[in-house]
Amino acid sequence: MTASIDFYDGRSARRQRVVLRLDGERLCLDGEVGSRSYPIEACRLDEPLGGAPRVLALPDGGHCEIPRTSGGADLLAQLGARLGARDGASGAVARLQRRWTVALASLVVTVAALAAAYQWGLPWAAGIVAPRIPAALTQHISDAALSTLDRTLLKPSALPEERQQALRSRMAAVLGPPQGGAGRPAYALHFRQGPMPNAFALPSGDVVVFDSLVKLAGSDDEVVAVMAHELGHVAYRHGLRQLLQSSVVAYAVGLYLGDVSSLASGMAALVLESRYSRDFESEADRYAADRLRQAGLSPELLGQMLARLDRGQPGHDGHGSRDAVPGGDLLASHPDTQARIEALRRLSPGRP
Ligand SMILES: [Zn+2]
Repeated sequence: MTASIDFYDGRSARRQRVVLRLDGERLCLDGEVGSRSYPIEACRLDEPLGGAPRVLALPDGGHCEIPRTSGGADLLAQLGARLGARDGASGAVARLQRRWTVALASLVVTVAALAAAYQWGLPWAAGIVAPRIPAALTQHISDAALSTLDRTLLKPSALPEERQQALRSRMAAVLGPPQGGAGRPAYALHFRQGPMPNAFALPSGDVVVFDSLVKLAGSDDEVVAVMAHELGHVAYRHGLRQLLQSSVVAYAVGLYLGDVSSLASGMAALVLESRYSRDFESEADRYAADRLRQAGLSPELLGQMLARLDRGQPGHDGHGSRDAVPGGDLLASHPDTQARIEALRRLSPGRP
C-alpha cells in the first residue's frame, strides 16, 4: 500500500512530497527527507473535515496531509482500520471542540510569549551581544551600509574642503580626537548631500552630516552638538542593537518560512531607517549633554538645533508625516521633539 503525500516536518512551513507505506505495525515514510518509520499506534489521524485532506499527526511533530481521493483513499482506509478502534468517529464533535479550545489556548500563550520575548527578551539579548561583535565586523557592516547609501540616497558634499576641515577641528576640540579613548568611541566625520537636513551615525563611529544641516545651523557648535548626539548612539551601540533585534526577527520569520536567503538584503535601509526607540534617543541626548558640558558648552545647543530642524519640517505638528521621511537619525525617528528640547534645557546649567 503506497501513496504520494504532502509532508510537513513541523519546523518549517515547507511542503515535501513523500511516499507512505504500511509495513506490519509500522508506518514507513520515504522522500527527499529520507526514510523514517513510526509505530502506527503512535500516529493520530484527525477527524474528517468536509472534503479536506485528512491530517495524520506523526510522533516527531511532523504531519502528513492525505488526500481523500485516488491513492490516498486506500491508505486512509488502511489507517482507519488500524487507528479506528481508538480514534473512531464517535464523539468527533467533542474532540474537535476540545482540540480547538486547546489550539486557541496554545495560540494565545504562544503569541504572548513571543510578544514578551520581542518586547523584553530581544532588547536584553541584543544589549548583551552588541558589545561582543568584533570591531572588524562592525566596520564591515558600516562600510557596506555607507557605500550602499552613497549609491542610492546620498550625493557627495558640496561644502568647501576648508569648511569641512573647520568643522572637523571644532568637533575634535569639543569632543576629543577622532581616535577616541578613555571610554569615548573613535569616530570619523563625513559630509554628504542628503534629502533633508539630518545626520546619522553608523555603528563603526562613522558620522555622516548633511550639507543642509550645516547650512541650517545657527553656529558650528550646534552642528557639533548634533555630532555629540550621534556619538551617543555609537557609544551605546544603539545601531548594532537595533540591527540585531531586527535581524533576529527577520531570521525567525525566514526560518518559519523555510527561507533564510532574504536575510542578507536591506541592511543599509535598516541602519538608516531604523527608528530608534524613545529610550535610545533620550540616552543619546543625555550623552550629548554630558559631552557638551564637559567642554564648557550648553546642552541647549542641541535643543536649538532640534528646534530649527523641527521648524523646517513639512509635517510640523510633532507627529505623522515626518515618520515617513527617510535619510537620517534626527527628526525622522523623533516624534516628541518638544519634550526632548525641554529635557535638554533642564540639563543645561543655570536652568530650573
Ligand atoms: Zn538620535
